[in-house]
Amino acid sequence: MNTSLTAATATTPSRFGYATHLSCRECGHTCPIGSGHACAECFGPLEVAYDLPALTRESIESGPLSMWRYASLLPVPQDVASTPNLDPGWTRLVRADLLASTLGMRELWIKDERGNPTHSFKDRVVGVALAAAIELGFKVLACPSTGNLANAVAAAAARAGIRAVVLIPADLEIQKVIGSAVYGCSLVAVRGSYDDVNRLASELADEREDWAFVNVNVRPYYAEGSKTLGFEIAEQLGWRVPEQVVVPIASGAQLVKVDKGFAELTSLGLVDEQPWRVFGAQATGCSPVSAAFAAGHDVVRPVRPDTIAKSLAIGNPADGPYALDVARRTGGAIADVGDAEIVEAIRLLAQTEGIFGETAGGVTLAVLRKLLAEGRLDPEAETVIINSGDGLKTLDAVAGAVTVPAPIRPTLEAFQEAVS
Ligand SMILES: *Cc1c(COP(=O)(O)O)cnc(C)c1O
Ligand SMILES: [Zn+2]
Repeated sequence: MNTSLTAATATTPSRFGYATHLSCRECGHTCPIGSGHACAECFGPLEVAYDLPALTRESIESGPLSMWRYASLLPVPQDVASTPNLDPGWTRLVRADLLASTLGMRELWIKDERGNPTHSFKDRVVGVALAAAIELGFKVLACPSTGNLANAVAAAAARAGIRAVVLIPADLEIQKVIGSAVYGCSLVAVRGSYDDVNRLASELADEREDWAFVNVNVRPYYAEGSKTLGFEIAEQLGWRVPEQVVVPIASGAQLVKVDKGFAELTSLGLVDEQPWRVFGAQATGCSPVSAAFAAGHDVVRPVRPDTIAKSLAIGNPADGPYALDVARRTGGAIADVGDAEIVEAIRLLAQTEGIFGETAGGVTLAVLRKLLAEGRLDPEAETVIINSGDGLKTLDAVAGAVTVPAPIRPTLEAFQEAVS
Protein backbone atom coordinates (compact mmCIF):
# COMPACT_ATOMS: atom_id res chain seq x y z
CA MET A 1 0.00 0.00 0.00
CA ASN A 2 1.10 3.56 -0.70
CA THR A 3 2.08 4.84 2.75
CA SER A 4 1.92 8.55 1.92
CA LEU A 5 -1.66 8.07 0.77
CA THR A 6 -2.46 6.31 4.05
CA ALA A 7 -0.98 9.16 6.04
CA ALA A 8 -2.89 11.80 4.09
CA THR A 9 -6.25 10.09 4.60
CA ALA A 10 -5.59 8.88 8.14
CA THR A 11 -7.48 11.24 10.43
CA THR A 12 -9.74 14.10 9.46
CA PRO A 13 -11.68 15.60 12.36
CA SER A 14 -15.46 15.20 12.41
CA ARG A 15 -17.85 17.25 14.53
CA PHE A 16 -16.52 15.10 17.38
CA GLY A 17 -12.91 15.90 16.61
CA TYR A 18 -10.67 12.86 16.39
CA ALA A 19 -13.03 10.68 18.44
CA THR A 20 -13.88 7.58 16.43
CA HIS A 21 -16.20 5.48 18.59
CA LEU A 22 -17.27 4.58 22.11
CA SER A 23 -15.71 1.59 23.80
CA CYS A 24 -16.85 -0.39 26.88
CA ARG A 25 -14.43 -0.10 29.79
CA GLU A 26 -15.40 -3.58 31.00
CA CYS A 27 -15.60 -5.80 27.91
CA GLY A 28 -14.13 -3.66 25.10
CA HIS A 29 -17.32 -3.86 23.00
CA THR A 30 -17.47 -0.85 20.67
CA CYS A 31 -20.32 1.27 19.35
CA PRO A 32 -20.56 4.37 17.16
CA ILE A 33 -20.34 7.91 18.57
CA GLY A 34 -23.82 8.66 19.87
CA SER A 35 -25.79 9.24 23.02
CA GLY A 36 -25.30 5.74 24.50
CA HIS A 37 -23.56 5.61 27.85
CA ALA A 38 -23.88 1.96 28.85
CA CYS A 39 -22.57 -1.07 26.95
CA ALA A 40 -25.24 -3.03 25.05
CA GLU A 41 -23.40 -6.28 25.92
CA CYS A 42 -22.60 -5.91 29.62
CA PHE A 43 -24.03 -2.54 30.80
CA GLY A 44 -20.46 -1.40 31.56
CA PRO A 45 -19.62 2.32 31.19
CA LEU A 46 -18.61 3.56 27.74
CA GLU A 47 -15.55 5.67 27.09
CA VAL A 48 -14.61 7.84 24.10
CA ALA A 49 -11.91 6.33 21.85
CA TYR A 50 -9.80 8.34 19.40
CA ASP A 51 -7.49 8.14 16.46
CA LEU A 52 -5.30 10.96 17.74
CA PRO A 53 -3.34 13.09 15.29
CA ALA A 54 0.35 13.89 15.68
CA LEU A 55 0.61 17.09 17.75
CA THR A 56 3.43 19.42 18.71
CA ARG A 57 3.88 21.42 21.87
CA GLU A 58 3.98 24.57 19.72
CA SER A 59 0.60 23.89 18.12
CA ILE A 60 -0.95 23.56 21.58
CA GLU A 61 0.90 26.58 22.99
CA SER A 62 -0.43 28.79 20.18
CA GLY A 63 -4.02 27.82 20.99
CA PRO A 64 -6.57 29.71 23.10
CA LEU A 65 -5.89 30.47 26.79
CA SER A 66 -8.60 28.04 27.85
CA MET A 67 -9.04 24.27 27.90
CA TRP A 68 -9.88 24.52 24.18
CA ARG A 69 -6.14 24.62 23.46
CA TYR A 70 -6.55 20.81 23.79
CA ALA A 71 -9.61 20.59 21.50
CA SER A 72 -7.87 18.04 19.28
CA LEU A 73 -7.70 15.66 22.27
CA LEU A 74 -11.42 16.05 23.08
CA PRO A 75 -14.65 14.78 21.43
CA VAL A 76 -15.76 18.25 20.31
CA PRO A 77 -15.92 20.29 17.08
CA GLN A 78 -12.47 21.73 16.47
CA ASP A 79 -13.89 25.27 16.24
CA VAL A 80 -15.48 24.89 19.71
CA ALA A 81 -13.62 27.95 21.03
CA SER A 82 -15.65 30.18 18.71
CA THR A 83 -19.02 28.80 19.86
CA PRO A 84 -20.90 30.52 22.74
CA ASN A 85 -19.33 28.89 25.78
CA LEU A 86 -17.65 29.94 29.03
CA ASP A 87 -14.03 29.25 27.96
CA PRO A 88 -13.18 27.13 31.03
CA GLY A 89 -9.72 26.11 32.15
CA TRP A 90 -6.17 27.43 31.87
CA THR A 91 -6.32 28.10 35.61
CA ARG A 92 -3.26 28.97 37.68
CA LEU A 93 -0.73 26.37 38.77
CA VAL A 94 0.68 27.97 41.92
CA ARG A 95 4.07 27.08 43.38
CA ALA A 96 3.30 26.74 47.11
CA ASP A 97 6.65 27.28 48.81
CA LEU A 98 5.35 28.43 52.17
CA LEU A 99 2.91 25.56 52.42
CA ALA A 100 5.63 23.15 51.25
CA SER A 101 8.05 24.26 53.95
CA THR A 102 5.30 24.04 56.58
CA LEU A 103 4.71 20.44 55.51
CA GLY A 104 8.42 19.61 55.11
CA MET A 105 8.12 19.09 51.36
CA ARG A 106 10.60 19.99 48.67
CA GLU A 107 8.28 21.09 45.86
CA LEU A 108 4.53 21.50 46.01
CA TRP A 109 2.15 23.01 43.47
CA ILE A 110 -1.55 23.83 43.70
CA LYS A 111 -3.77 23.64 40.64
CA ASP A 112 -6.27 26.33 41.60
CA GLU A 113 -9.61 25.64 39.97
CA ARG A 114 -11.29 28.67 41.52
CA GLY A 115 -10.26 30.50 38.35
CA ASN A 116 -12.97 28.79 36.31
CA PRO A 117 -16.12 30.68 35.23
CA THR A 118 -18.29 29.26 38.03
CA HIS A 119 -15.35 28.75 40.40
CA SER A 120 -14.90 24.98 40.25
CA PHE A 121 -13.40 22.37 37.91
CA LYS A 122 -16.93 21.38 36.84
CA ASP A 123 -16.85 24.03 34.09
CA ARG A 124 -14.40 21.78 32.24
CA VAL A 125 -16.62 18.71 32.13
CA VAL A 126 -19.68 20.79 31.29
CA GLY A 127 -17.77 22.49 28.45
CA VAL A 128 -17.22 19.15 26.72
CA ALA A 129 -20.68 17.79 27.58
CA LEU A 130 -22.42 20.88 26.19
CA ALA A 131 -20.47 20.84 22.93
CA ALA A 132 -21.16 17.13 22.42
CA ALA A 133 -24.82 17.45 23.49
CA ILE A 134 -25.40 20.12 20.84
CA GLU A 135 -23.78 17.92 18.16
CA LEU A 136 -25.89 14.97 19.31
CA GLY A 137 -29.08 17.03 18.88
CA PHE A 138 -30.12 17.41 22.52
CA LYS A 139 -32.26 20.44 23.33
CA VAL A 140 -31.96 20.74 27.13
CA LEU A 141 -28.91 20.58 29.40
CA ALA A 142 -29.61 18.83 32.71
CA CYS A 143 -27.83 17.18 35.64
CA PRO A 144 -28.10 15.71 39.10
CA SER A 145 -25.54 17.63 41.17
CA THR A 146 -23.83 17.99 44.52
CA GLY A 147 -23.79 21.76 43.81
CA ASN A 148 -20.87 22.83 41.66
CA LEU A 149 -22.10 20.92 38.63
CA ALA A 150 -25.48 22.65 38.92
CA ASN A 151 -23.73 26.04 38.87
CA ALA A 152 -21.67 25.08 35.82
CA VAL A 153 -24.60 23.61 33.86
CA ALA A 154 -26.88 26.56 34.61
CA ALA A 155 -24.25 29.11 33.54
CA ALA A 156 -23.11 27.29 30.40
CA ALA A 157 -26.69 26.72 29.23
CA ALA A 158 -27.52 30.39 29.79
CA ARG A 159 -24.61 31.46 27.60
CA ALA A 160 -25.49 28.90 24.92
CA GLY A 161 -29.11 30.05 24.94
CA ILE A 162 -30.59 26.69 25.86
CA ARG A 163 -32.74 25.53 28.77
CA ALA A 164 -31.11 24.06 31.89
CA VAL A 165 -32.77 21.74 34.41
CA VAL A 166 -30.71 20.97 37.52
CA LEU A 167 -31.56 18.60 40.34
CA ILE A 168 -29.88 18.98 43.74
CA PRO A 169 -30.27 17.53 47.23
CA ALA A 170 -32.33 20.00 49.28
CA ASP A 171 -29.68 20.38 52.02
CA LEU A 172 -26.99 22.02 49.82
CA GLU A 173 -25.00 25.11 50.75
CA ILE A 174 -27.12 28.23 50.07
CA GLN A 175 -24.31 29.74 47.97
CA LYS A 176 -24.56 26.83 45.55
CA VAL A 177 -28.37 27.00 45.43
CA ILE A 178 -28.46 30.73 44.67
CA GLY A 179 -25.41 30.33 42.44
CA SER A 180 -27.54 28.13 40.16
CA ALA A 181 -30.87 29.93 40.41
CA VAL A 182 -29.36 33.25 39.37
CA TYR A 183 -28.77 31.91 35.83
CA GLY A 184 -32.50 31.38 35.34
CA CYS A 185 -32.46 27.58 35.22
CA SER A 186 -35.20 25.18 36.31
CA LEU A 187 -33.86 24.30 39.75
CA VAL A 188 -35.32 21.28 41.55
CA ALA A 189 -34.39 20.64 45.19
CA VAL A 190 -35.05 17.02 46.10
CA ARG A 191 -35.62 15.75 49.62
CA GLY A 192 -32.96 13.04 49.71
CA SER A 193 -29.26 12.33 49.27
CA TYR A 194 -27.27 12.91 46.07
CA ASP A 195 -27.64 9.22 45.32
CA ASP A 196 -31.46 9.60 45.44
CA VAL A 197 -31.19 12.61 43.12
CA ASN A 198 -28.96 10.67 40.75
CA ARG A 199 -31.43 7.78 40.60
CA LEU A 200 -34.26 10.19 39.78
CA ALA A 201 -32.12 11.76 37.03
CA SER A 202 -31.45 8.34 35.49
CA GLU A 203 -35.19 7.65 35.36
CA LEU A 204 -35.77 11.05 33.75
CA ALA A 205 -32.99 10.49 31.22
CA ASP A 206 -34.82 7.37 29.97
CA GLU A 207 -38.01 9.36 29.57
CA ARG A 208 -36.92 12.75 28.17
CA GLU A 209 -35.25 11.91 24.91
CA ASP A 210 -33.94 15.37 24.09
CA TRP A 211 -32.51 16.13 27.55
CA ALA A 212 -28.77 15.73 27.95
CA PHE A 213 -28.03 14.85 31.57
CA VAL A 214 -24.37 15.77 31.38
CA ASN A 215 -23.15 13.20 33.90
CA VAL A 216 -25.66 10.47 33.00
CA ASN A 217 -26.54 9.97 29.33
CA VAL A 218 -23.64 12.03 27.91
CA ARG A 219 -21.22 10.95 30.64
CA PRO A 220 -18.56 9.55 28.25
CA TYR A 221 -18.08 13.07 26.80
CA TYR A 222 -18.47 14.87 30.13
CA ALA A 223 -15.77 12.78 31.80
CA GLU A 224 -13.24 13.57 29.06
CA GLY A 225 -13.25 17.22 30.17
CA SER A 226 -11.24 16.32 33.28
CA LYS A 227 -8.31 15.18 31.12
CA THR A 228 -7.60 18.87 30.58
CA LEU A 229 -6.61 19.16 34.24
CA GLY A 230 -3.85 16.64 33.56
CA PHE A 231 -2.88 18.33 30.29
CA GLU A 232 -2.62 21.76 31.92
CA ILE A 233 -0.65 20.55 34.93
CA ALA A 234 1.95 18.97 32.64
CA GLU A 235 2.14 21.92 30.25
CA GLN A 236 2.39 24.44 33.11
CA LEU A 237 5.21 22.45 34.70
CA GLY A 238 7.13 22.96 31.46
CA TRP A 239 5.83 19.86 29.66
CA ARG A 240 6.57 17.45 32.48
CA VAL A 241 4.35 15.04 34.39
CA PRO A 242 4.64 15.51 38.19
CA GLU A 243 5.91 12.61 40.26
CA GLN A 244 2.88 12.71 42.58
CA VAL A 245 -0.61 14.17 42.25
CA VAL A 246 -3.40 14.26 44.86
CA VAL A 247 -6.96 14.44 43.50
CA PRO A 248 -10.32 14.63 45.34
CA ILE A 249 -12.82 11.84 44.69
CA ALA A 250 -16.61 12.17 44.41
CA SER A 251 -17.60 9.91 41.50
CA GLY A 252 -13.90 9.26 40.84
CA ALA A 253 -14.02 10.53 37.24
CA GLN A 254 -11.68 13.46 37.81
CA LEU A 255 -8.96 11.22 39.25
CA VAL A 256 -9.27 8.65 36.48
CA LYS A 257 -9.09 11.31 33.77
CA VAL A 258 -6.11 13.19 35.23
CA ASP A 259 -4.24 9.90 34.90
CA LYS A 260 -5.57 9.44 31.36
CA GLY A 261 -4.45 12.98 30.48
CA PHE A 262 -0.89 12.22 31.61
CA ALA A 263 -0.96 8.92 29.68
CA GLU A 264 -2.13 10.58 26.45
CA LEU A 265 0.57 13.28 26.60
CA THR A 266 3.14 10.55 27.19
CA SER A 267 1.98 8.38 24.31
CA LEU A 268 1.93 11.40 21.97
CA GLY A 269 5.54 12.14 22.95
CA LEU A 270 4.60 15.60 24.29
CA VAL A 271 6.17 14.81 27.67
CA ASP A 272 9.07 12.51 28.49
CA GLU A 273 8.16 9.08 29.72
CA GLN A 274 8.35 9.24 33.50
CA PRO A 275 6.32 7.41 36.15
CA TRP A 276 3.71 9.28 38.18
CA ARG A 277 1.74 8.26 41.24
CA VAL A 278 -1.94 9.18 41.67
CA PHE A 279 -3.39 9.63 45.18
CA GLY A 280 -7.11 9.99 45.92
CA ALA A 281 -8.77 12.01 48.69
CA GLN A 282 -12.13 11.47 50.40
CA ALA A 283 -13.89 12.71 53.52
CA THR A 284 -14.27 10.03 56.19
CA GLY A 285 -18.01 10.78 56.25
CA CYS A 286 -18.21 9.58 52.64
CA SER A 287 -15.24 7.32 51.97
CA PRO A 288 -16.42 4.25 50.04
CA VAL A 289 -13.42 4.31 47.68
CA SER A 290 -10.89 4.87 50.46
CA ALA A 291 -12.47 2.01 52.44
CA ALA A 292 -12.23 -0.33 49.44
CA PHE A 293 -8.59 0.70 48.90
CA ALA A 294 -7.73 -0.05 52.53
CA ALA A 295 -9.54 -3.40 52.43
CA GLY A 296 -7.92 -4.43 49.14
CA HIS A 297 -11.32 -4.75 47.44
CA ASP A 298 -11.98 -4.18 43.72
CA VAL A 299 -15.62 -3.26 44.25
CA VAL A 300 -16.89 -0.25 46.14
CA ARG A 301 -19.60 -0.77 48.75
CA PRO A 302 -22.07 2.18 48.76
CA VAL A 303 -22.37 4.32 51.91
CA ARG A 304 -24.78 6.98 53.20
CA PRO A 305 -22.78 10.25 53.25
CA ASP A 306 -22.44 12.46 56.32
CA THR A 307 -19.73 15.11 55.87
CA ILE A 308 -19.24 18.86 55.47
CA ALA A 309 -17.58 18.11 52.11
CA LYS A 310 -20.90 18.05 50.27
CA SER A 311 -19.37 18.40 46.81
CA LEU A 312 -17.71 15.00 47.38
CA ALA A 313 -20.73 13.34 49.01
CA ILE A 314 -21.46 10.59 46.49
CA GLY A 315 -22.14 7.37 48.37
CA ASN A 316 -22.19 5.17 45.27
CA PRO A 317 -19.41 6.49 43.01
CA ALA A 318 -19.69 5.45 39.37
CA ASP A 319 -15.94 5.54 38.73
CA GLY A 320 -14.90 4.15 42.12
CA PRO A 321 -13.49 0.87 40.79
CA TYR A 322 -11.51 2.69 38.09
CA ALA A 323 -10.11 5.15 40.64
CA LEU A 324 -8.96 2.17 42.74
CA ASP A 325 -7.31 0.70 39.70
CA VAL A 326 -5.44 3.95 38.87
CA ALA A 327 -4.18 4.40 42.45
CA ARG A 328 -2.98 0.78 42.64
CA ARG A 329 -1.49 0.66 39.14
CA THR A 330 0.52 3.88 39.62
CA GLY A 331 1.72 3.04 43.15
CA GLY A 332 -0.44 5.73 44.75
CA ALA A 333 -3.01 5.42 47.54
CA ILE A 334 -6.49 6.57 48.55
CA ALA A 335 -7.14 7.92 52.05
CA ASP A 336 -9.81 9.83 53.97
CA VAL A 337 -9.89 12.57 56.62
CA GLY A 338 -12.44 13.77 59.18
CA ASP A 339 -14.34 17.06 59.11
CA ALA A 340 -12.11 18.73 61.73
CA GLU A 341 -8.99 17.97 59.67
CA ILE A 342 -10.76 19.34 56.57
CA VAL A 343 -11.51 22.67 58.28
CA GLU A 344 -7.95 22.85 59.61
CA ALA A 345 -6.58 22.27 56.10
CA ILE A 346 -8.82 24.94 54.57
CA ARG A 347 -7.35 27.44 57.05
CA LEU A 348 -3.79 26.25 56.45
CA LEU A 349 -4.15 26.70 52.67
CA ALA A 350 -5.62 30.17 53.16
CA GLN A 351 -2.99 31.24 55.68
CA THR A 352 0.05 29.96 53.78
CA GLU A 353 -0.89 30.57 50.14
CA GLY A 354 -3.76 33.05 50.14
CA ILE A 355 -6.06 30.48 48.56
CA PHE A 356 -9.51 30.01 50.09
CA GLY A 357 -10.49 26.58 48.87
CA GLU A 358 -13.79 24.85 49.33
CA THR A 359 -14.29 21.79 51.50
CA ALA A 360 -13.09 19.53 48.66
CA GLY A 361 -9.81 21.47 48.62
CA GLY A 362 -9.56 20.98 52.38
CA VAL A 363 -10.07 17.24 51.92
CA THR A 364 -7.27 17.09 49.36
CA LEU A 365 -4.74 19.04 51.43
CA ALA A 366 -5.65 17.14 54.61
CA VAL A 367 -5.14 13.83 52.81
CA LEU A 368 -1.76 15.05 51.55
CA ARG A 369 -0.79 15.77 55.17
CA LYS A 370 -2.02 12.40 56.33
CA LEU A 371 -0.20 10.47 53.61
CA LEU A 372 3.01 12.42 54.36
CA ALA A 373 2.71 11.64 58.06
CA GLU A 374 2.20 7.96 57.28
CA GLY A 375 5.21 7.94 54.95
CA ARG A 376 3.09 6.87 51.98
CA LEU A 377 3.81 10.04 49.99
CA ASP A 378 7.36 11.17 49.31
CA PRO A 379 8.16 14.70 50.62
CA GLU A 380 11.12 14.92 48.23
CA ALA A 381 9.09 14.22 45.08
CA GLU A 382 7.51 16.95 42.99
CA THR A 383 3.84 17.02 44.01
CA VAL A 384 0.69 18.68 42.66
CA ILE A 385 -2.58 18.92 44.59
CA ILE A 386 -5.86 20.08 43.12
CA ASN A 387 -7.97 22.76 44.78
CA SER A 388 -11.14 21.96 42.86
CA GLY A 389 -13.47 24.69 44.16
CA ASP A 390 -13.99 27.98 45.95
CA GLY A 391 -14.30 28.50 49.70
CA LEU A 392 -16.80 31.31 49.19
CA LYS A 393 -19.32 28.60 48.25
CA THR A 394 -18.83 26.70 51.51
CA LEU A 395 -18.58 29.49 54.07
CA ASP A 396 -20.54 27.64 56.77
CA ALA A 397 -17.88 24.95 56.95
CA VAL A 398 -15.32 27.39 58.36
CA ALA A 399 -17.59 29.99 59.97
CA GLY A 400 -17.19 28.39 63.38
CA ALA A 401 -13.41 28.12 63.08
CA VAL A 402 -12.57 31.77 62.41
CA THR A 403 -13.08 34.73 64.72
CA VAL A 404 -15.47 37.37 63.48
CA PRO A 405 -14.81 40.44 65.67
CA ALA A 406 -17.39 42.60 67.39
CA PRO A 407 -17.60 46.12 65.90
CA ILE A 408 -15.72 48.98 67.64
CA ARG A 409 -16.33 52.73 67.97
CA PRO A 410 -14.36 54.74 65.32
CA THR A 411 -11.72 56.01 67.82
CA LEU A 412 -8.00 55.34 68.36
CA GLU A 413 -8.64 54.16 71.91
CA ALA A 414 -11.18 51.59 70.74
CA PHE A 415 -8.78 50.39 68.01
CA GLN A 416 -5.88 50.04 70.45
CA GLU A 417 -8.09 48.10 72.81
CA ALA A 418 -9.14 45.74 70.01
CA VAL A 419 -5.80 45.22 68.21
CA SER A 420 -2.57 44.62 70.11
C1 LIG B 1 -17.52 17.23 41.63
C2 LIG B 1 -16.37 17.70 42.42
C3 LIG B 1 -15.24 16.88 42.65
C4 LIG B 1 -15.11 15.44 42.25
O1 LIG B 1 -15.43 15.09 40.96
P1 LIG B 1 -15.60 13.61 40.45
O2 LIG B 1 -15.11 13.69 39.06
O3 LIG B 1 -17.07 13.30 40.53
O4 LIG B 1 -14.80 12.69 41.31
C5 LIG B 1 -14.18 17.45 43.32
N1 LIG B 1 -14.21 18.71 43.77
C6 LIG B 1 -15.27 19.51 43.59
C7 LIG B 1 -15.23 20.88 44.14
C8 LIG B 1 -16.38 19.04 42.90
O5 LIG B 1 -17.44 19.85 42.71
ZN1 LIG C 1 -19.31 -4.15 27.86
